[in-house]
Amino acid sequence: MAAIPIADGHGHSNPVRGMGAARIAERFKEAGGWFWALLSLSPWNYGIEPAGLESYERMIEIVVRECKEAEDAGLRVACLAGFHPADVDRLIDRYKMDPTRVLELGRSVVDHIAGLCREGILDGIGEVGRQHYKTGAERAVIAQLILERALEHARDYGCIVHMHLEHVGRITVDLVEDTAKRIGLGDARARVVFHHSKPGTGSYASSLGYPVTIPGAQRLLPHVFRELEPFYILESDYIDDPSRPGAVVYPWEMAEEVHRLHSKGLVGEEYLYRVNVDNVVKLYGVEPP
Ligand SMILES: [Zn+2]
Ligand SMILES: [Zn+2]
Repeated sequence: MAAIPIADGHGHSNPVRGMGAARIAERFKEAGGWFWALLSLSPWNYGIEPAGLESYERMIEIVVRECKEAEDAGLRVACLAGFHPADVDRLIDRYKMDPTRVLELGRSVVDHIAGLCREGILDGIGEVGRQHYKTGAERAVIAQLILERALEHARDYGCIVHMHLEHVGRITVDLVEDTAKRIGLGDARARVVFHHSKPGTGSYASSLGYPVTIPGAQRLLPHVFRELEPFYILESDYIDDPSRPGAVVYPWEMAEEVHRLHSKGLVGEEYLYRVNVDNVVKLYGVEPP
Protein backbone atom coordinates (compact mmCIF):
# COMPACT_ATOMS: atom_id res chain seq x y z
CA MET A 1 0.00 0.00 0.00
CA ALA A 2 1.30 3.43 -0.91
CA ALA A 3 2.07 5.71 2.02
CA ILE A 4 -0.52 8.34 2.80
CA PRO A 5 0.45 11.64 1.16
CA ILE A 6 1.39 14.30 3.69
CA ALA A 7 0.74 18.04 3.47
CA ASP A 8 2.63 20.76 5.28
CA GLY A 9 0.03 23.49 5.67
CA HIS A 10 2.44 26.26 6.69
CA GLY A 11 6.21 26.52 6.46
CA HIS A 12 9.13 28.68 5.37
CA SER A 13 12.44 28.34 3.58
CA ASN A 14 15.56 30.44 3.70
CA PRO A 15 17.89 30.15 0.70
CA VAL A 16 20.29 32.68 2.25
CA ARG A 17 20.84 31.20 5.71
CA GLY A 18 19.27 27.75 5.58
CA MET A 19 18.74 24.81 3.24
CA GLY A 20 16.46 26.55 0.78
CA ALA A 21 13.25 25.25 -0.73
CA ALA A 22 14.66 22.80 -3.27
CA ARG A 23 16.43 20.66 -0.67
CA ILE A 24 13.59 20.88 1.84
CA ALA A 25 11.10 19.89 -0.85
CA GLU A 26 13.23 16.93 -1.97
CA ARG A 27 13.51 15.55 1.56
CA PHE A 28 9.85 16.17 2.29
CA LYS A 29 8.81 14.46 -0.93
CA GLU A 30 10.99 11.45 -0.13
CA ALA A 31 9.19 11.18 3.21
CA GLY A 32 5.80 11.17 1.48
CA GLY A 33 5.12 14.91 1.23
CA TRP A 34 2.94 16.12 -1.65
CA PHE A 35 1.87 19.66 -0.73
CA TRP A 36 3.57 22.63 0.92
CA ALA A 37 2.13 26.03 1.77
CA LEU A 38 5.32 28.10 1.57
CA LEU A 39 5.37 31.57 3.10
CA SER A 40 7.86 34.40 3.04
CA LEU A 41 9.98 35.21 6.06
CA SER A 42 10.78 38.88 6.77
CA PRO A 43 13.20 40.86 4.56
CA TRP A 44 16.04 40.86 7.13
CA ASN A 45 15.89 37.06 7.37
CA TYR A 46 17.11 37.10 3.76
CA GLY A 47 19.73 39.76 4.52
CA ILE A 48 17.63 42.60 3.07
CA GLU A 49 17.62 45.90 4.99
CA PRO A 50 14.00 47.03 5.25
CA ALA A 51 14.08 50.44 3.61
CA GLY A 52 10.49 50.42 2.40
CA LEU A 53 8.22 48.73 -0.09
CA GLU A 54 11.17 47.84 -2.39
CA SER A 55 12.66 45.68 0.38
CA TYR A 56 9.44 43.74 0.61
CA GLU A 57 9.32 43.45 -3.18
CA ARG A 58 12.73 41.80 -3.04
CA MET A 59 11.48 39.51 -0.27
CA ILE A 60 8.55 38.53 -2.49
CA GLU A 61 10.86 37.80 -5.43
CA ILE A 62 12.75 35.39 -3.18
CA VAL A 63 9.69 33.52 -1.99
CA VAL A 64 8.30 33.27 -5.53
CA ARG A 65 11.60 31.75 -6.68
CA GLU A 66 11.60 29.38 -3.71
CA CYS A 67 8.06 28.23 -4.53
CA LYS A 68 9.10 27.52 -8.10
CA GLU A 69 12.02 25.42 -6.87
CA ALA A 70 9.78 23.43 -4.53
CA GLU A 71 7.42 22.80 -7.45
CA ASP A 72 10.31 21.72 -9.63
CA ALA A 73 11.23 19.24 -6.89
CA GLY A 74 7.80 17.66 -7.36
CA LEU A 75 5.57 19.22 -4.71
CA ARG A 76 2.33 21.07 -5.18
CA VAL A 77 2.87 24.47 -3.61
CA ALA A 78 0.77 27.37 -2.38
CA CYS A 79 2.90 30.50 -2.37
CA LEU A 80 2.23 33.30 0.09
CA ALA A 81 3.98 36.48 1.15
CA GLY A 82 3.12 38.75 4.04
CA PHE A 83 3.89 41.37 6.60
CA HIS A 84 4.44 39.51 9.87
CA PRO A 85 3.05 41.18 13.00
CA ALA A 86 6.55 40.99 14.53
CA ASP A 87 7.74 43.19 11.64
CA VAL A 88 5.79 46.04 13.24
CA ASP A 89 7.92 45.86 16.39
CA ARG A 90 11.14 45.19 14.57
CA LEU A 91 10.72 48.16 12.22
CA ILE A 92 10.00 50.50 15.14
CA ASP A 93 12.63 49.17 17.58
CA ARG A 94 15.49 48.19 15.37
CA TYR A 95 15.01 50.34 12.30
CA LYS A 96 13.54 53.37 14.14
CA MET A 97 10.67 53.69 11.71
CA ASP A 98 7.86 56.00 12.71
CA PRO A 99 4.75 53.96 13.73
CA THR A 100 2.51 55.81 11.28
CA ARG A 101 4.95 54.98 8.53
CA VAL A 102 4.96 51.31 9.62
CA LEU A 103 1.19 51.17 9.24
CA GLU A 104 1.39 52.77 5.79
CA LEU A 105 4.14 50.40 4.75
CA GLY A 106 2.31 47.32 6.06
CA ARG A 107 -0.81 48.26 4.19
CA SER A 108 1.07 48.98 0.98
CA VAL A 109 2.92 45.64 1.22
CA VAL A 110 -0.37 43.82 1.68
CA ASP A 111 -1.94 45.75 -1.23
CA HIS A 112 1.02 44.88 -3.43
CA ILE A 113 0.75 41.18 -2.52
CA ALA A 114 -2.99 41.22 -3.24
CA GLY A 115 -2.17 42.55 -6.72
CA LEU A 116 0.17 39.61 -7.27
CA CYS A 117 -2.58 37.24 -6.11
CA ARG A 118 -4.90 38.68 -8.73
CA GLU A 119 -2.19 38.12 -11.34
CA GLY A 120 -1.77 34.52 -10.20
CA ILE A 121 1.84 35.02 -9.11
CA LEU A 122 1.00 34.43 -5.45
CA ASP A 123 -1.80 32.44 -3.83
CA GLY A 124 -2.25 34.55 -0.78
CA ILE A 125 -1.17 36.87 1.98
CA GLY A 126 0.70 35.49 4.99
CA GLU A 127 1.70 35.88 7.56
CA VAL A 128 -0.34 38.80 8.81
CA GLY A 129 -2.07 39.11 12.14
CA ARG A 130 -1.31 40.05 15.70
CA GLN A 131 1.70 39.67 17.98
CA HIS A 132 1.59 36.57 20.20
CA TYR A 133 3.79 38.27 22.83
CA LYS A 134 3.51 41.37 24.96
CA THR A 135 3.85 44.55 22.92
CA GLY A 136 2.76 48.19 22.96
CA ALA A 137 -0.88 49.16 22.47
CA GLU A 138 -0.05 51.24 19.40
CA ARG A 139 1.80 48.34 17.80
CA ALA A 140 -1.03 45.90 18.51
CA VAL A 141 -3.47 48.27 16.81
CA ILE A 142 -1.16 48.72 13.79
CA ALA A 143 -0.92 44.94 13.39
CA GLN A 144 -4.70 44.59 13.61
CA LEU A 145 -5.25 47.32 10.98
CA ILE A 146 -2.82 45.62 8.58
CA LEU A 147 -4.65 42.32 9.15
CA GLU A 148 -7.94 44.03 8.35
CA ARG A 149 -6.56 45.25 5.04
CA ALA A 150 -5.54 41.67 4.22
CA LEU A 151 -9.03 40.41 5.08
CA GLU A 152 -10.52 42.98 2.72
CA HIS A 153 -8.40 41.47 -0.05
CA ALA A 154 -9.63 38.00 0.90
CA ARG A 155 -13.17 39.33 0.55
CA ASP A 156 -12.63 41.24 -2.72
CA TYR A 157 -10.08 39.19 -4.63
CA GLY A 158 -10.17 35.68 -3.25
CA CYS A 159 -6.73 35.85 -1.65
CA ILE A 160 -5.96 33.14 0.90
CA VAL A 161 -4.79 34.65 4.20
CA HIS A 162 -2.65 32.97 6.89
CA MET A 163 -3.22 34.66 10.23
CA HIS A 164 -0.58 34.57 12.96
CA LEU A 165 -2.41 35.46 16.19
CA GLU A 166 -2.09 35.64 19.96
CA HIS A 167 -3.29 32.59 21.89
CA VAL A 168 -6.02 33.73 24.23
CA GLY A 169 -8.52 31.05 23.36
CA ARG A 170 -11.96 32.06 22.15
CA ILE A 171 -11.21 35.77 22.46
CA THR A 172 -8.66 35.42 19.65
CA VAL A 173 -11.30 33.90 17.39
CA ASP A 174 -14.01 36.34 18.50
CA LEU A 175 -11.95 39.38 17.50
CA VAL A 176 -11.39 37.91 14.03
CA GLU A 177 -15.05 37.01 13.74
CA ASP A 178 -16.18 40.49 14.83
CA THR A 179 -13.80 41.98 12.28
CA ALA A 180 -15.13 39.60 9.63
CA LYS A 181 -18.70 40.69 10.33
CA ARG A 182 -17.78 44.38 10.29
CA ILE A 183 -16.01 44.20 6.93
CA GLY A 184 -18.54 41.75 5.42
CA LEU A 185 -16.10 38.90 4.89
CA GLY A 186 -18.95 36.46 4.22
CA ASP A 187 -18.02 33.14 2.63
CA ALA A 188 -14.44 34.35 2.21
CA ARG A 189 -13.99 33.07 5.80
CA ALA A 190 -13.26 29.77 4.10
CA ARG A 191 -10.00 31.30 2.78
CA VAL A 192 -8.80 32.82 6.05
CA VAL A 193 -6.60 30.41 7.99
CA PHE A 194 -5.97 30.32 11.71
CA HIS A 195 -2.32 29.30 11.58
CA HIS A 196 -0.47 27.73 14.54
CA SER A 197 -3.76 27.13 16.26
CA LYS A 198 -4.17 25.34 19.56
CA PRO A 199 -6.61 22.42 19.41
CA GLY A 200 -9.46 24.04 21.43
CA THR A 201 -9.21 27.39 19.65
CA GLY A 202 -8.93 25.58 16.33
CA SER A 203 -12.14 23.62 16.91
CA TYR A 204 -13.98 26.82 17.69
CA ALA A 205 -12.58 28.65 14.64
CA SER A 206 -13.46 25.68 12.46
CA SER A 207 -17.04 25.67 13.77
CA LEU A 208 -17.36 29.25 12.47
CA GLY A 209 -16.14 28.22 9.00
CA TYR A 210 -12.43 29.10 9.14
CA PRO A 211 -9.68 26.73 7.99
CA VAL A 212 -7.14 25.87 10.68
CA THR A 213 -3.56 24.64 10.76
CA ILE A 214 -2.28 22.80 13.82
CA PRO A 215 1.42 22.37 14.69
CA GLY A 216 2.60 18.87 13.86
CA ALA A 217 5.28 18.59 16.56
CA GLN A 218 6.08 14.98 17.35
CA ARG A 219 5.03 15.07 20.99
CA LEU A 220 1.70 16.76 20.17
CA LEU A 221 0.55 14.51 17.36
CA PRO A 222 -0.89 11.60 19.37
CA HIS A 223 -2.93 14.05 21.41
CA VAL A 224 -4.08 15.95 18.31
CA PHE A 225 -5.17 12.78 16.52
CA ARG A 226 -7.00 11.53 19.60
CA GLU A 227 -8.77 14.76 20.48
CA LEU A 228 -9.67 16.41 17.19
CA GLU A 229 -12.08 15.76 14.38
CA PRO A 230 -10.14 15.93 11.08
CA PHE A 231 -11.13 19.52 10.27
CA TYR A 232 -7.57 20.89 10.16
CA ILE A 233 -4.30 20.72 8.17
CA LEU A 234 -0.99 19.97 9.90
CA GLU A 235 1.87 22.47 9.73
CA SER A 236 5.57 22.28 10.48
CA ASP A 237 6.11 26.07 10.62
CA TYR A 238 9.71 25.18 9.78
CA ILE A 239 11.75 28.40 9.50
CA ASP A 240 14.94 27.00 7.97
CA ASP A 241 17.30 29.11 10.07
CA PRO A 242 20.22 27.28 11.70
CA SER A 243 20.72 30.18 14.14
CA ARG A 244 17.21 29.69 15.56
CA PRO A 245 17.00 25.94 16.08
CA GLY A 246 14.64 25.88 19.09
CA ALA A 247 11.77 23.48 18.74
CA VAL A 248 12.24 22.93 15.02
CA VAL A 249 9.93 20.49 13.30
CA TYR A 250 11.30 19.43 9.95
CA PRO A 251 8.51 18.78 7.44
CA TRP A 252 9.96 15.33 6.65
CA GLU A 253 10.05 14.44 10.36
CA MET A 254 6.43 15.44 10.65
CA ALA A 255 5.62 13.14 7.71
CA GLU A 256 7.61 10.25 9.20
CA GLU A 257 5.90 10.64 12.54
CA VAL A 258 2.44 10.67 10.98
CA HIS A 259 3.27 7.46 9.10
CA ARG A 260 4.70 5.89 12.27
CA LEU A 261 1.56 6.65 14.30
CA HIS A 262 -0.57 5.31 11.45
CA SER A 263 1.44 2.08 11.29
CA LYS A 264 1.01 1.69 15.06
CA GLY A 265 -2.74 1.97 14.55
CA LEU A 266 -3.04 5.22 16.49
CA VAL A 267 -4.71 7.07 13.62
CA GLY A 268 -6.82 5.83 10.73
CA GLU A 269 -6.26 6.15 7.00
CA GLU A 270 -9.52 7.95 6.29
CA TYR A 271 -8.79 10.49 9.01
CA LEU A 272 -5.34 11.16 7.57
CA TYR A 273 -6.72 11.59 4.05
CA ARG A 274 -9.13 14.20 5.33
CA VAL A 275 -6.33 16.12 7.10
CA ASN A 276 -3.66 15.79 4.43
CA VAL A 277 -5.60 15.74 1.18
CA ASP A 278 -9.29 16.70 1.33
CA ASN A 279 -8.80 19.82 3.45
CA VAL A 280 -5.90 20.98 1.27
CA VAL A 281 -7.79 20.42 -1.98
CA LYS A 282 -10.77 22.32 -0.61
CA LEU A 283 -8.77 25.32 0.63
CA TYR A 284 -6.28 25.71 -2.21
CA GLY A 285 -8.17 24.22 -5.14
CA VAL A 286 -5.17 22.06 -6.07
CA GLU A 287 -5.40 18.69 -7.81
CA PRO A 288 -5.20 15.81 -5.33
CA PRO A 289 -2.05 13.64 -5.46
ZN1 LIG B 1 3.33 32.35 12.59
ZN1 LIG C 1 5.19 30.76 10.08
